[in-house]
Amino acid sequence: MTKPSESAAPGVPPLFVELCQVLRSRGVVVREETFQGPFDRAGGYCELRGDRLVLLDKRARPAEQFRALLECIEEIGLSTLGLAGTDLSPALLAQLNRRGHMPWPHSTEAPPLARGHLRQDVSQNLAPYTTLGIGGPAADFLVVHGRTSLAHQLARAQELGLETRVLGGGSNLVVADEGVASSVVLMRTRGIRFQAESGSVLAEVEAGESWDEFVRQTVERGYRGLECLSGIPGTVGATPIQNVGAYGQEVAQTIESVTVMDPTDGSLTTLSNEACEFSYRSSIFKGKGSALGIVVSVTFRLEEDPRPTIAFKELEAALSDIAEPTLADARRAVVALRRKKSMVYDVSDPNHRSCGSFFTNPVLPAAAFERLQRKHTTVPHFPLPDGTFKVPAAWLIEKSGLTRGTRLGPVGLSTAHTLAIVAHDGASAKDVVRFAHVVRRQVEETFDVRLRPEPEFWGFAELEDGLPVLPDGQEP
Ligand SMILES: Cc1cc2nc3c(=O)[nH]c(=O)nc-3n(C[C@H](O)[C@H](O)[C@H](O)COP(=O)(O)OP(=O)(O)OC[C@H]3O[C@@H](n4cnc5c(N)ncnc54)[C@H](O)[C@@H]3O)c2cc1C
Repeated sequence: MTKPSESAAPGVPPLFVELCQVLRSRGVVVREETFQGPFDRAGGYCELRGDRLVLLDKRARPAEQFRALLECIEEIGLSTLGLAGTDLSPALLAQLNRRGHMPWPHSTEAPPLARGHLRQDVSQNLAPYTTLGIGGPAADFLVVHGRTSLAHQLARAQELGLETRVLGGGSNLVVADEGVASSVVLMRTRGIRFQAESGSVLAEVEAGESWDEFVRQTVERGYRGLECLSGIPGTVGATPIQNVGAYGQEVAQTIESVTVMDPTDGSLTTLSNEACEFSYRSSIFKGKGSALGIVVSVTFRLEEDPRPTIAFKELEAALSDIAEPTLADARRAVVALRRKKSMVYDVSDPNHRSCGSFFTNPVLPAAAFERLQRKHTTVPHFPLPDGTFKVPAAWLIEKSGLTRGTRLGPVGLSTAHTLAIVAHDGASAKDVVRFAHVVRRQVEETFDVRLRPEPEFWGFAELEDGLPVLPDGQEP
């Protein structure tokens, strides 16, 4: 066993040396060893009998070791190490900042998302971290890059007497203008491990990974199972919450297990697919905050098969010119279809400030569906195996008289899809909620069907059928 050299030898980045020194000055042992087995990671962090250890694989190139070291420091957390930004050289701080940046920045005005683990200004609004671009501050706010720092932050929240809420990409979230009296952790944990197993491939993914970046990698490697879920914003850890789905696939079909951290003691539990109780846009986690644990990783079982799943008419039509479509063809077609409906997050799109679909498609018992069909014979519907009928919320909204682009002040329906509510300049969370009530009331008055919202709401006192109640006396 040897120590990495203290001076910058040829090929060793000087920042690598600085990082080793910084870690050692805080009592972390940094060691080089020749790891056993096939090479997959250049290094890692662990805690052994109270010692904090960073092990680097001698077989890795200096640049790979440096990246591994950055990952380790992110996992431990600068604040855990008792370091401030001023303890680091500007060049090293810049590296950490760059790594902390989201691959899907929501606002050009957003402050740097992470300075390693330096605590953010708690008066900072959550708006730049949500795709709606709306929302007040959190009582406490921290970016986490590793499970260790997550556990530390959970303990800190308990000391402060605050519940913890997890923020991923903020793409399925409406945060109140007043903010939220919780400790908010911005999940930026990283790591994707692919492993062949019994004829299929297991992909274990850390919760803070970008969902679409992960999907891109599976498609590139020729693994089938997630290709139709291309172009959905947000993080991997959020996908089990509402059983993310689109174009004929949903994550419940490929999730093998979900590992959660208990916010009260930091312990980990792995839930099987069955234990997650997945259903249409729902799971055991939906609407429960972090009570059932914080998702730290999700494991997917994928097939080594280049043929995509084509189970959705619109996608079938889009691919009809290609004799043998590949996974990449399906991904391209899905993203193109989504783009036409403003259903990819793209800041150059005037409809980009939304949560995607604002309402789920109502699932009606047979009797209620028959009543609806008697009055409205053209209602589109999908019979489900349990005898219920799914009806498209977008159709109900449009036919109730609320066409694309309908606006109420600074909030309106997307000009590309009636199911998305878009916030324009000057919009507040109250405006969004008021408009959602208008849509729900209009559909209910026309069809006697009550829509349920899809996003989660933070910082609102009372919800009725999933939608925040408007303050007394306020008519939508
Ligand atoms: C343009 C657009 C298109 C969309 N299209 C689709 C679509 O086709 N299908 C679909 O299903 N959804 C869609 N969505 C909704 C959204 O992208 C997904 O629900 C996504 O999975 C949310 O991920 P997120 O990281 O942004 O979650 P956030 O919005 O940050 O969080 C949503 C909820 O999940 C919880 N959560 C997040 N991470 C964790 C975690 N690690 N552990 C525990 N709880 C957690 C949060 O606390 C919160 O309650 C769309 C949204 C937009 C803006």
